[in-house]
Amino acid sequence: MRLNDIWKRGRVSFSFEVFPPKKDGDFQTVRAAVESIAQLKPDFMSVTYGAGGGTSDYTAEIARIVQSQGVPALAHLTCVSADRDRIRHELEKLQAAGIENILALRGDYPEDYDPAAPRDYRYAASLVEDIRAYGGFTIGGACYPEGHVECPSQEEDLRHLKEKVEKGVDFLTTQMFFDNSALYSFLYRARALGITVPVLAGVMPVTNAGQIQRILRLSGTTLPYRFRMILDQFRDRPDAMKQAGVIYAAEQIVDLVANGVQGIHVYVMNKPDVARALSENLARVLER
Ligand code: FAD
Repeated sequence: MRLNDIWKRGRVSFSFEVFPPKKDGDFQTVRAAVESIAQLKPDFMSVTYGAGGGTSDYTAEIARIVQSQGVPALAHLTCVSADRDRIRHELEKLQAAGIENILALRGDYPEDYDPAAPRDYRYAASLVEDIRAYGGFTIGGACYPEGHVECPSQEEDLRHLKEKVEKGVDFLTTQMFFDNSALYSFLYRARALGITVPVLAGVMPVTNAGQIQRILRLSGTTLPYRFRMILDQFRDRPDAMKQAGVIYAAEQIVDLVANGVQGIHVYVMNKPDVARALSENLARVLER
């Protein structure tokens, strides 16, 4: 199922992101987690591609498993280390697996990246253009309420975002943020620039204090004082940290829905219990 129509229904979409196994031996564990999350019947599930040192080999397979559970899948695809032949091969693979939705990304630079070397893809916009020309996919793109970490100003980042959307992006998903006012300010500026596609708010329930410090360093996402105090208080008590992280995310989502966002995308890190807690606690808020 193509995702285009989800946002025409007039209710907030609710979706989860999962990641494929990092090595062969993890496949069954990931499969079980993905199936269990799919049973919650989100509007769709996205599957990352080579993020966080993980492999890209299983993205299509995990996306196929998501769809076998009756949930539409959104497969991520990055282009920074690929050439046009490789991308064509990936698109054929996704099509053969029955996947109709792609999140088109540049990807983070690999350690040996040489900016001067000739290459087919420098930015996600060129990937969007190629997927659009290939046809048959609904296309999502990434956006950054606090600005992308490499970009000198948010204004410039938004200009590049507009160029990317104009190449054929159907919807955007945001980087995680912990202060909703960052999203509201971003949306205001994006709409003023003429970016009108649906923007899904990316929310991460923080369940592990150590892990979030690393993610924040890489993404440039800031932590509000209120959340820093939660991390300080609960970092050495994993159960309390998890409970507080899920409640913080739920409060963020209530506020986002109250302020009219079109979709909530939860970075659920393959944790079915976290996905279940949010689904159950927010069922009425999300009209599910
Ligand atoms: P782009 O849109 O290409 O932007 C990258 C940078 O280039 C920005 O600073 C932008 O302002 C700048 N730029 C764009 N066009 C131009 C131009 N013409 N001239 C100069 N500068 C320009 N990574 C993975 O490896 N796998 C994943 O599965 C994955 N999933 C993600 C999902 C989401 C929702 C998000 C928000 C990120 C995800 N990432 C993933 C991380 C992403 O790959 C990185 O953030 C990457 O650094 C940027 O990707 P992008 O598609 O946003 O790039």
